[in-house]
Amino acid sequence: MNLLKEFDLHDPAKSGQELHSFAAELFPICRSITGEGIRQTLAMIQSRIPLKVSDVPSGTSVFDWTVPKEWNIRDAYIKAPNGKRVVDFRDCNLHVVNYSRPIHETMLLSELKPHLFTIPKNPEWIPYRTSYYKEDWGFCLSHNQLLALEDGKYEVCIDSTLENGHLTYGECSLPGRSTDEILISCHACHPSLANDNLSGLTVATHLSRFLARRDLRYSYRFLFIPGTIGAITWLARNQEQAGRIRHGLVLTCIGDSGKFHYKKSRHGVAEMDRASAHVLKHNSQDPEILEFSPYGYDERQYCSPGFNLAVGCLMRSVWGTFPEYHTSADNLEFIHPQELEQSLRVCVAIIDVLENNRRYRNLRPYCEPQLGRRNLYRPTGGDDIGAEINARLWVLNLSDGKHSLLDIAERSGLPFSMINDAADVLFQGGLLELGSD
Ligand SMILES: [Zn+2]
Repeated sequence: MNLLKEFDLHDPAKSGQELHSFAAELFPICRSITGEGIRQTLAMIQSRIPLKVSDVPSGTSVFDWTVPKEWNIRDAYIKAPNGKRVVDFRDCNLHVVNYSRPIHETMLLSELKPHLFTIPKNPEWIPYRTSYYKEDWGFCLSHNQLLALEDGKYEVCIDSTLENGHLTYGECSLPGRSTDEILISCHACHPSLANDNLSGLTVATHLSRFLARRDLRYSYRFLFIPGTIGAITWLARNQEQAGRIRHGLVLTCIGDSGKFHYKKSRHGVAEMDRASAHVLKHNSQDPEILEFSPYGYDERQYCSPGFNLAVGCLMRSVWGTFPEYHTSADNLEFIHPQELEQSLRVCVAIIDVLENNRRYRNLRPYCEPQLGRRNLYRPTGGDDIGAEINARLWVLNLSDGKHSLLDIAERSGLPFSMINDAADVLFQGGLLELGSD
């Protein structure tokens, strides 16, 4: 099945708008690695795709880690000596250091200051800070807000709870003809941040919805999980299942206008690494392929040596390298319908390669078969007739049962979709047989 052709039948402007609207619905929720925010987020994904939601109790051992206490927050503020809220969680959920323990005290500005975080370089923006594994509290505010604070006594309140509860994650499985799986993973634990978190969530949700209606070679598993601890928890509880994952992709920061980046899996030459590099080369401007490193998103856990899964990471702008990263400027204006849609299309194109990458054997390997006699030398449509015939000659020449269609696409410099079309036509024409996988 040619997934990319089917995908291109839909209206890209409408689809881009749907992706962005979904991100806008999710944006206001105060998410964290546990708690009501991530549950609410998963419920909204569940209204679009079938999602199995799992709750793992606090205190559960997961490899070398422990599932933390559950964090929830109702309100938080700093009140100035005149009684006015000068920092207010209700204005922006980034104002509270995520996972802050509860506090309600009055203190001098000098005592409060060590708990305040700003970005002096971008004085209008609010930073995003977390304190998951050390019980602490703090506020994030714009540098201009900080400069406006006068000496005096401030009422500081964080109305949060940090108690035994659960870590929650969601998974969506789509059965294919094979039990071998393709994993798509994204983190769902950041509060109001659009590119870092919501872009991956929305694209993964729409990708799952698109694939759900198809006849698929592989089975698919979509994970919507809290970063790091979520991936560790899922892997600890599904060690056997993880052995079925043949290819995987972590999706993050794919809604901004930056160029595409693909970070290779630990293998470096896995089919996912090659398929992603190939698709980006033919479907995007000036993409960059990054070598694996043991830092980044959840590919770190999937590529840990015990699992060593072929999981790479697809991004546009790379986390940590754009100024808006982990600040209030990573908002709904920073991501765009068109870019979200293009990222979704790139994901479909990568999956299209994996679904259709096969080996064939040329049944007439002694000299070229006479294509004209079989009506295979004449154009069957398309502008680039030369490339179409060229693709057929490449497929005939390299289909020796050893070269895959992706090998042929890479060697010929032609896009996989064209090589795949050529193989289809030659197979229908009786010139190829399927090789063993
Ligand atoms: Zn992040």
